[in-house]
Amino acid sequence: MAEATVQASAPAQTTQRRRVTRGEYVVAQNEETNPQVNVIRFVPTNGQMFEFEAGQFVSVSAVKPDGKKIARDYSIFSPPSFREGFELCIKRVEGGFMSNYLCDLKSGDKINAIGPMGGFIMRKPLPPEVFFVSTGTGVAPFRSMAETLLSNGINEQIYLIFGSRHPEDIIYRSYFEDLEKKYDNFHYRPTLSRADDTWNGHRGHVQETLKEHILDPSKKDVYICGLQIMVDQVKDLAISAGVSPNNIYYERYD
Ligand SMILES: Cc1cc2nc3c(=O)[nH]c(=O)nc-3n(C[C@H](O)[C@H](O)[C@H](O)COP(=O)(O)OP(=O)(O)OC[C@H]3O[C@@H](n4cnc5c(N)ncnc54)[C@H](O)[C@@H]3O)c2cc1C
Repeated sequence: MAEATVQASAPAQTTQRRRVTRGEYVVAQNEETNPQVNVIRFVPTNGQMFEFEAGQFVSVSAVKPDGKKIARDYSIFSPPSFREGFELCIKRVEGGFMSNYLCDLKSGDKINAIGPMGGFIMRKPLPPEVFFVSTGTGVAPFRSMAETLLSNGINEQIYLIFGSRHPEDIIYRSYFEDLEKKYDNFHYRPTLSRADDTWNGHRGHVQETLKEHILDPSKKDVYICGLQIMVDQVKDLAISAGVSPNNIYYERYD
């Protein structure tokens, strides 16, 4: 999965090791925020929420109807400052077990999960401009990262480029729009590939929006999250635009 030149979830040197915990969690809230996408809040049954860094994920396990136990990874959507539990942002995958099982959970249902895991976290010091590029639920780690960075009062510029087809697929749109109003250094760039004439924002794919914004590639870190095909294309584009492979970090969901 990882290539020699680009950082794929390699643990950052600046991070402290967080204790990986196996725990039971109860569903406190499960909301369908967009078609086929749910945001689910889990609370530890023993009251002890693990510590994590924005960008990390949990591994959720469940037993399928045929008796087989499976595990799937999910980026933590909520910021580490939320200590009550954690939120996940999950897209239903057609024919997939775990994504539908989780989206169908009701308040009070319980799951087992291990976390935190992964090295897809912010590298410090931040360069003058940080780009987050995602499609679909690939936005999950960036919600956690953006809220963490901005609430800490950073001065660096943060760009979130989010791609989907239609306006109704834009995950947490009003949340990110509010964040942009609140912080001058947060720039939200939803980009739609199949919008109708009423859409005034960016059109096309995230690659094109990224290209428009890469003016001085030496000053940027680019973080990418989502399905492999998008990640690979954005990575290639960033490199061809002059961003050093050492300043590109990514998490692939498939
Ligand atoms: C580190 C990591 C973090 C992840 N975080 C998230 C997250 O925050 N939210 C989330 O929804 N998913 C996330 N995923 C994907 C998730 O782990 C599962 O692969 C996904 O939910 C499908 O599981 P399933 O059991 O329903 O279907 P499966 O039977 O396991 O998969 C069916 C097919 O769907 C593909 N697939 C996986 N994810 C998607 C997707 N988002 N859209 C379309 N096809 C997909 C798989 O490649 C596979 O071919 C993450 C994956 C990794 C590795």
